[in-house]
Amino acid sequence: MDNVREQIEFDVLFVGGGPASLAGAIHLMKLAKSKGLELEVALIEKGADIGSHALSGAVLNPIALKELIPNYRETGCPIETDVRGDEFHFLTRTRHYGVPFVPKYMHNKGFHIISLSRFVSWLGRFAEGLGVNVFPGFAGKEVLYGQDERTVIGVRTGDKGVGKDNAPKANFEAGIDILAKVTVFGEGPRGSLLQAISSKLHIFEGKMPQVFETGIKEVIQLPETNYFSNSRGNDIHTFGYPLGLNTHGGGFIYEMKDNRVSLGLIVGLSYQDTMLDLYEEFIRFKRHPFISKLIKGGRVIEQGARTIVTGGYYTMPKLAVGGGLFVGACASMLNAPALKGIHTSMKSGMLAAEAIVDAFSKRSFTQETLGYYHELFEDSWLKKELCTGRNFTQAVSKKGLVKFFHVGVQYLTDGKGIFDKMPIEEDSRTLRPFKEDVNSHRTRTYEKQAYDGVLFVDKLTGVYLSKTQHREDQPCHLIVHDPSLCVNECFETYRCPCTRFCPGNVYELETDDKTHGKRLRLNPSNCLHCKTCDIKDPYGNITWICPEAGDGPGYTVV
Ligand code: SF4
Repeated sequence: MDNVREQIEFDVLFVGGGPASLAGAIHLMKLAKSKGLELEVALIEKGADIGSHALSGAVLNPIALKELIPNYRETGCPIETDVRGDEFHFLTRTRHYGVPFVPKYMHNKGFHIISLSRFVSWLGRFAEGLGVNVFPGFAGKEVLYGQDERTVIGVRTGDKGVGKDNAPKANFEAGIDILAKVTVFGEGPRGSLLQAISSKLHIFEGKMPQVFETGIKEVIQLPETNYFSNSRGNDIHTFGYPLGLNTHGGGFIYEMKDNRVSLGLIVGLSYQDTMLDLYEEFIRFKRHPFISKLIKGGRVIEQGARTIVTGGYYTMPKLAVGGGLFVGACASMLNAPALKGIHTSMKSGMLAAEAIVDAFSKRSFTQETLGYYHELFEDSWLKKELCTGRNFTQAVSKKGLVKFFHVGVQYLTDGKGIFDKMPIEEDSRTLRPFKEDVNSHRTRTYEKQAYDGVLFVDKLTGVYLSKTQHREDQPCHLIVHDPSLCVNECFETYRCPCTRFCPGNVYELETDDKTHGKRLRLNPSNCLHCKTCDIKDPYGNITWICPEAGDGPGYTVV
């Protein structure tokens, strides 16, 4: 297949069509124009459309957007509503208590509630208007290096039209080698290319492990008269039930326009109970009397899931290598205490753009020259913001009430806390063996849920509502390295947690009628591309690789 590969050359290539890459590409075009520099810039995105794989809360702090596009309102930025007021509630199993004190980093009044998918789609059109070559439906599959094997020179996109047996079909199209003087990686959380670069160039050496949370989210259409018509707050956060105090995470409901709300539950993947089922927890959250009152009479119109990278400042990789830069979520650019990553991702892309212009002015694209991005980061409000949350996820991952003590001290010491550089464990290492939990009676159990198919939908209906599609006849994009380990060791020790942490019902444990042996069945076409399995599997036995580009969720309003 290699001898038919086409090569295209650009000055700059952005990989990933999220807020970081798009803000970077827009800022780059504007800066280049102001300096009379002519640059050929391309952006590739694995989703079928720009925005079809974008999912987030999402309350947007407009600080970076104002810098990027000062007249964003006049240019048609799709804002759902502005935040009128914040509410923060502690939930017990049946009750809720409004917390009178909302932490300052969660003061969102005046910020914008958006649909990330719509927002990103608008940024994509804006970038195209400035001359960026935007290519949705192209996934970066492999990093290309120069002769020194250390300098990034572009990416190879994935082949299309390959059969399940890895043989080319009649409609086969070989991937393209997209070469660039600078490649900007903005792949989002747990980027596959970033991991490949990490193995080769050790960009995470000396850093704490990246850690993650998984969010399941819906957009719900409410009746005309609803809670938000007269409420003070339209930006509601909860903690406590259903996760309890030993698992970090919480819920949110944001008011959107046209009587819609965006609702979700975020679960820290450092959880220990192997029987925890992410989707069941999400449904429990929705059924809580306080929440179900807010969404009464509603209908789910879209659902999706995604991981969020929350480790923060101490988990950031080196930001530059020869010919390459890392922006957005894949570089841990998220303000965890504020629960916001869009403005931080955008700013990282913009700083990368400034470093790229500097590199072109010097005609040098080495790690040293592109390292100017790191210097710009050090002097920016972005660094200050990330530093205030540098120990936050580490603190909230602690069990019980002690987390509040740590968070309180960090609050008073601008993020320093009692231990600065508080240690954190990789999410794949935190599960407790099933038998240990059974013996100490702390295993979670779930009652059978009744789904009405309207406001409460089951996992498969959720997948349908995410508009996820994959071409069936293609190699499986979920690599289970040793299937026997799953049904023997993993079943015995952890009862196959993949069957519970996957929000797409991709992993099912079944028993062979004849041999009565267990086997793991995969439904890769349900995959929501959240990458939870790649992160949380306790044996590192599952690797998520990018399927054929254009496949996956088809988000439009989440
Ligand atoms: Fe997420 Fe993995 Fe399930 Fe796909 S298979 S939905 S990436 S957990």
